[in-house]
Amino acid sequence: MTAVLITGSSRGIGRAIAHRFAHDGYDVIINYQTNEAAAEDAVKLVESTGSGAIAVEADVSDPDAAARLVERGVETFGGLDHVVNNAGIDQHVHTESLSPADFDHVMDVNVNGAFNVTKAALSALEASEDDPSVTNVSSILAHTGAPIECHYAASKGALLSLTRSHAADFAPDIRVNAVAPGHIETDMTADRTPEEAEAARAEIPIGRFGRPAEIADAVAYLRDATFVTGETLNVNGGESMR
Ligand code: NAP
Repeated sequence: MTAVLITGSSRGIGRAIAHRFAHDGYDVIINYQTNEAAAEDAVKLVESTGSGAIAVEADVSDPDAAARLVERGVETFGGLDHVVNNAGIDQHVHTESLSPADFDHVMDVNVNGAFNVTKAALSALEASEDDPSVTNVSSILAHTGAPIECHYAASKGALLSLTRSHAADFAPDIRVNAVAPGHIETDMTADRTPEEAEAARAEIPIGRFGRPAEIADAVAYLRDATFVTGETLNVNGGESMR
Protein backbone atom coordinates (compact mmCIF):
# COMPACT_ATOMS: atom_id res chain seq x y z
CA MET A 1 0.00 0.00 0.00
CA THR A 2 1.33 3.45 -0.87
CA ALA A 3 0.16 6.77 0.49
CA VAL A 4 0.74 10.47 -0.14
CA LEU A 5 0.13 13.48 2.07
CA ILE A 6 -0.73 16.63 0.14
CA THR A 7 -1.04 19.82 2.17
CA GLY A 8 -3.70 22.31 1.08
CA SER A 9 -5.46 19.72 -1.06
CA SER A 10 -9.08 20.77 -0.48
CA ARG A 11 -8.98 23.12 -3.46
CA GLY A 12 -7.01 24.25 -6.52
CA ILE A 13 -3.63 22.76 -7.36
CA GLY A 14 -3.54 20.49 -4.27
CA ARG A 15 -6.88 18.94 -5.19
CA ALA A 16 -5.62 18.22 -8.72
CA ILE A 17 -2.46 16.62 -7.30
CA ALA A 18 -4.66 14.46 -5.05
CA HIS A 19 -6.70 13.34 -8.04
CA ARG A 20 -3.57 12.49 -10.01
CA PHE A 21 -1.97 10.45 -7.21
CA ALA A 22 -5.28 8.65 -6.60
CA HIS A 23 -5.50 7.83 -10.30
CA ASP A 24 -1.96 6.41 -10.03
CA GLY A 25 -3.07 4.12 -7.17
CA TYR A 26 -2.04 6.08 -4.06
CA ASP A 27 -4.16 6.54 -0.96
CA VAL A 28 -4.36 10.24 -0.18
CA ILE A 29 -4.30 12.31 2.99
CA ILE A 30 -6.22 15.46 2.12
CA ASN A 31 -5.28 18.42 4.29
CA TYR A 32 -7.16 21.70 4.70
CA GLN A 33 -7.25 24.60 7.11
CA THR A 34 -10.84 25.91 7.15
CA ASN A 35 -12.83 24.60 4.19
CA GLU A 36 -14.13 21.23 5.44
CA ALA A 37 -16.81 20.92 2.75
CA ALA A 38 -14.24 21.31 -0.03
CA ALA A 39 -11.96 18.79 1.71
CA GLU A 40 -14.79 16.23 1.95
CA ASP A 41 -15.50 16.80 -1.73
CA ALA A 42 -11.82 16.12 -2.52
CA VAL A 43 -12.06 12.89 -0.49
CA LYS A 44 -15.01 11.81 -2.69
CA LEU A 45 -13.01 12.65 -5.82
CA VAL A 46 -10.14 10.44 -4.65
CA GLU A 47 -12.51 7.63 -3.64
CA SER A 48 -14.15 7.75 -7.08
CA THR A 49 -10.86 6.38 -8.49
CA GLY A 50 -10.87 3.42 -6.07
CA SER A 51 -8.14 4.85 -3.81
CA GLY A 52 -8.60 5.59 -0.11
CA ALA A 53 -8.69 9.09 1.37
CA ILE A 54 -9.11 10.97 4.63
CA ALA A 55 -9.51 14.69 5.24
CA VAL A 56 -7.47 16.15 8.10
CA GLU A 57 -7.81 19.72 9.34
CA ALA A 58 -4.41 21.17 10.27
CA ASP A 59 -2.77 24.57 10.01
CA VAL A 60 0.63 23.56 8.66
CA SER A 61 2.28 26.64 10.18
CA ASP A 62 1.68 25.07 13.62
CA PRO A 63 4.35 22.39 14.26
CA ASP A 64 2.07 20.41 16.61
CA ALA A 65 -0.76 20.41 14.10
CA ALA A 66 1.66 19.31 11.36
CA ALA A 67 2.82 16.43 13.55
CA ARG A 68 -0.78 15.37 14.24
CA LEU A 69 -1.54 15.54 10.49
CA VAL A 70 1.31 13.15 9.67
CA GLU A 71 0.38 10.86 12.57
CA ARG A 72 -3.25 10.57 11.39
CA GLY A 73 -2.10 9.69 7.89
CA VAL A 74 0.39 7.06 9.03
CA GLU A 75 -2.15 5.52 11.43
CA THR A 76 -4.82 5.35 8.72
CA PHE A 77 -2.78 4.02 5.83
CA GLY A 78 -0.01 2.18 7.71
CA GLY A 79 2.79 4.39 6.37
CA LEU A 80 3.63 7.35 4.20
CA ASP A 81 5.56 7.33 0.92
CA HIS A 82 5.36 10.86 -0.49
CA VAL A 83 4.72 14.38 0.78
CA VAL A 84 3.65 17.33 -1.35
CA ASN A 85 4.03 20.65 0.47
CA ASN A 86 1.46 22.59 -1.52
CA ALA A 87 -0.44 24.68 1.10
CA GLY A 88 0.22 28.35 0.50
CA ILE A 89 -1.27 31.79 0.88
CA ASP A 90 -0.82 35.03 -1.03
CA GLN A 91 -1.58 38.63 -0.21
CA HIS A 92 -1.26 41.75 -2.37
CA VAL A 93 0.13 44.61 -0.28
CA HIS A 94 2.86 47.13 -1.08
CA THR A 95 5.82 47.06 1.31
CA GLU A 96 4.89 50.56 2.59
CA SER A 97 1.65 49.15 4.01
CA LEU A 98 2.82 45.62 4.81
CA SER A 99 2.95 44.88 8.54
CA PRO A 100 5.73 42.70 9.99
CA ALA A 101 2.97 40.41 11.31
CA ASP A 102 1.55 39.89 7.80
CA PHE A 103 5.06 39.30 6.44
CA ASP A 104 5.63 36.67 9.13
CA HIS A 105 2.26 35.02 8.54
CA VAL A 106 2.96 34.39 4.84
CA MET A 107 6.42 33.06 5.68
CA ASP A 108 4.95 30.89 8.46
CA VAL A 109 2.48 29.14 6.17
CA ASN A 110 4.55 28.96 2.98
CA VAL A 111 8.00 28.14 4.39
CA ASN A 112 7.64 27.01 7.99
CA GLY A 113 4.64 24.90 6.95
CA ALA A 114 6.79 22.90 4.51
CA PHE A 115 9.54 22.57 7.12
CA ASN A 116 7.07 21.43 9.81
CA VAL A 117 5.38 18.79 7.67
CA THR A 118 8.62 17.45 6.17
CA LYS A 119 10.24 17.20 9.60
CA ALA A 120 7.21 15.40 11.04
CA ALA A 121 7.15 12.97 8.09
CA LEU A 122 10.84 12.07 8.07
CA SER A 123 10.78 8.77 9.94
CA ALA A 124 7.74 7.53 8.01
CA LEU A 125 9.33 8.47 4.68
CA GLU A 126 12.59 6.77 5.64
CA ALA A 127 10.64 3.56 6.25
CA SER A 128 9.00 3.68 2.79
CA GLU A 129 10.00 1.26 0.05
CA ASP A 130 8.42 3.37 -2.73
CA ASP A 131 11.47 5.61 -3.46
CA PRO A 132 10.04 8.25 -1.10
CA SER A 133 9.96 11.89 -2.09
CA VAL A 134 9.02 15.36 -0.98
CA THR A 135 7.85 17.91 -3.53
CA ASN A 136 7.53 21.56 -2.57
CA VAL A 137 5.22 23.85 -4.55
CA SER A 138 7.08 27.12 -5.08
CA SER A 139 6.29 29.76 -7.74
CA ILE A 140 7.73 31.52 -10.78
CA LEU A 141 7.84 34.57 -8.49
CA ALA A 142 10.69 32.88 -6.55
CA HIS A 143 12.85 33.67 -9.60
CA THR A 144 11.38 36.98 -10.76
CA GLY A 145 10.31 38.67 -7.52
CA ALA A 146 7.03 40.55 -7.62
CA PRO A 147 5.64 43.98 -6.86
CA ILE A 148 3.03 44.21 -4.05
CA GLU A 149 3.75 40.70 -2.80
CA CYS A 150 7.39 40.77 -1.68
CA HIS A 151 6.67 38.45 1.25
CA TYR A 152 5.02 35.87 -1.03
CA ALA A 153 7.93 35.98 -3.52
CA ALA A 154 10.47 35.80 -0.68
CA SER A 155 8.68 32.81 0.83
CA LYS A 156 8.72 30.98 -2.50
CA GLY A 157 12.43 31.75 -2.94
CA ALA A 158 13.10 30.39 0.55
CA LEU A 159 11.19 27.25 -0.38
CA LEU A 160 13.66 26.60 -3.23
CA SER A 161 16.59 26.91 -0.80
CA LEU A 162 14.80 24.61 1.63
CA THR A 163 14.31 22.14 -1.23
CA ARG A 164 18.00 22.00 -2.13
CA SER A 165 19.07 21.87 1.53
CA HIS A 166 16.66 19.06 2.35
CA ALA A 167 17.68 17.18 -0.80
CA ALA A 168 21.27 17.25 0.48
CA ASP A 169 20.24 16.43 4.06
CA PHE A 170 18.12 13.42 3.17
CA ALA A 171 20.05 11.87 0.24
CA PRO A 172 20.16 9.06 -0.66
CA ASP A 173 17.04 8.04 1.30
CA ILE A 174 14.48 10.68 0.34
CA ARG A 175 14.44 12.77 -2.85
CA VAL A 176 13.34 16.40 -2.49
CA ASN A 177 12.34 18.58 -5.44
CA ALA A 178 10.23 21.64 -6.21
CA VAL A 179 7.71 22.66 -8.83
CA ALA A 180 7.52 26.36 -9.68
CA PRO A 181 4.19 27.10 -11.36
CA GLY A 182 3.41 30.20 -13.38
CA HIS A 183 -0.15 31.55 -13.49
CA ILE A 184 -2.60 28.74 -12.77
CA GLU A 185 -6.38 29.13 -12.73
CA THR A 186 -7.47 28.64 -9.11
CA ASP A 187 -9.19 30.62 -6.35
CA MET A 188 -5.81 32.23 -5.61
CA THR A 189 -5.76 33.96 -8.99
CA ALA A 190 -9.51 34.55 -9.37
CA ASP A 191 -9.47 38.14 -8.10
CA ARG A 192 -7.86 39.67 -11.21
CA THR A 193 -9.75 42.29 -13.21
CA PRO A 194 -10.26 41.39 -16.90
CA GLU A 195 -7.56 43.95 -17.77
CA GLU A 196 -5.09 42.41 -15.30
CA ALA A 197 -5.87 38.92 -16.61
CA GLU A 198 -5.27 40.02 -20.20
CA ALA A 199 -1.96 41.68 -19.30
CA ALA A 200 -0.84 38.55 -17.43
CA ARG A 201 -1.87 36.28 -20.32
CA ALA A 202 0.09 38.41 -22.79
CA GLU A 203 3.29 37.48 -20.90
CA ILE A 204 2.76 33.74 -21.48
CA PRO A 205 4.10 32.40 -24.81
CA ILE A 206 1.65 29.47 -24.74
CA GLY A 207 -1.12 32.10 -24.63
CA ARG A 208 -3.21 30.93 -21.70
CA PHE A 209 -3.10 30.34 -17.97
CA GLY A 210 -2.15 26.90 -16.71
CA ARG A 211 -4.53 24.29 -15.36
CA PRO A 212 -4.11 22.68 -11.92
CA ALA A 213 -3.82 19.24 -13.59
CA GLU A 214 -0.73 20.47 -15.46
CA ILE A 215 1.02 21.09 -12.13
CA ALA A 216 -0.15 17.67 -10.92
CA ASP A 217 1.55 16.13 -13.99
CA ALA A 218 4.83 17.81 -12.99
CA VAL A 219 4.55 16.57 -9.38
CA ALA A 220 3.85 13.04 -10.62
CA TYR A 221 6.93 13.24 -12.87
CA LEU A 222 9.12 14.22 -9.89
CA ARG A 223 7.62 11.42 -7.81
CA ASP A 224 8.70 8.93 -10.48
CA ALA A 225 12.03 10.56 -11.47
CA THR A 226 14.32 8.26 -9.49
CA PHE A 227 17.57 10.10 -10.41
CA VAL A 228 16.31 13.65 -9.80
CA THR A 229 16.77 15.44 -6.47
CA GLY A 230 17.35 19.04 -5.42
CA GLU A 231 15.79 20.32 -8.66
CA THR A 232 13.10 22.83 -9.55
CA LEU A 233 10.74 22.07 -12.41
CA ASN A 234 9.38 25.30 -13.93
CA VAL A 235 5.87 24.93 -15.35
CA ASN A 236 4.74 28.28 -16.70
CA GLY A 237 3.80 28.16 -20.40
CA GLY A 238 7.19 29.60 -21.31
CA GLU A 239 6.79 32.73 -19.19
CA SER A 240 10.33 32.37 -17.83
CA MET A 241 11.65 33.07 -21.38
CA ARG A 242 10.26 36.63 -21.14
P1 NAP B 1 -5.81 27.97 -3.38
O1 NAP B 1 -6.75 27.63 -4.47
O2 NAP B 1 -5.95 29.28 -2.65
O3 NAP B 1 -5.82 26.77 -2.30
C1 NAP B 1 -5.00 26.86 -1.18
C2 NAP B 1 -5.06 25.58 -0.39
O4 NAP B 1 -4.16 25.70 0.73
C3 NAP B 1 -6.42 25.28 0.19
O5 NAP B 1 -6.60 23.87 0.20
C4 NAP B 1 -6.33 25.81 1.63
O6 NAP B 1 -7.21 25.17 2.56
C5 NAP B 1 -4.89 25.45 1.94
N1 NAP B 1 -4.29 26.23 3.03
C6 NAP B 1 -4.13 27.57 3.11
N2 NAP B 1 -3.51 27.89 4.27
C7 NAP B 1 -3.28 26.72 4.92
C8 NAP B 1 -2.68 26.39 6.15
N3 NAP B 1 -2.18 27.31 6.98
N4 NAP B 1 -2.60 25.08 6.52
C9 NAP B 1 -3.11 24.10 5.70
N5 NAP B 1 -3.69 24.36 4.51
C10 NAP B 1 -3.77 25.66 4.14
O7 NAP B 1 -4.29 27.97 -3.90
P2 NAP B 1 -3.65 27.34 -5.23
O8 NAP B 1 -3.68 28.37 -6.30
O9 NAP B 1 -4.20 25.99 -5.48
O10 NAP B 1 -2.12 27.25 -4.75
C11 NAP B 1 -1.53 26.05 -4.28
C12 NAP B 1 -0.03 26.29 -4.16
O11 NAP B 1 0.50 26.67 -5.43
C13 NAP B 1 0.34 27.44 -3.20
O12 NAP B 1 1.50 27.11 -2.49
C14 NAP B 1 0.60 28.59 -4.14
O13 NAP B 1 1.45 29.55 -3.58
C15 NAP B 1 1.23 27.87 -5.31
N6 NAP B 1 1.17 28.59 -6.58
C16 NAP B 1 -0.04 28.93 -7.13
C17 NAP B 1 -0.07 29.62 -8.34
C18 NAP B 1 -1.34 30.01 -9.03
O14 NAP B 1 -1.26 30.73 -10.04
N7 NAP B 1 -2.51 29.58 -8.57
C19 NAP B 1 1.15 29.98 -8.95
C20 NAP B 1 2.35 29.62 -8.35
C21 NAP B 1 2.35 28.92 -7.16
P3 NAP B 1 -8.74 25.69 2.80
O15 NAP B 1 -9.56 25.15 1.65
O16 NAP B 1 -9.14 25.09 4.10
O17 NAP B 1 -8.69 27.18 2.83
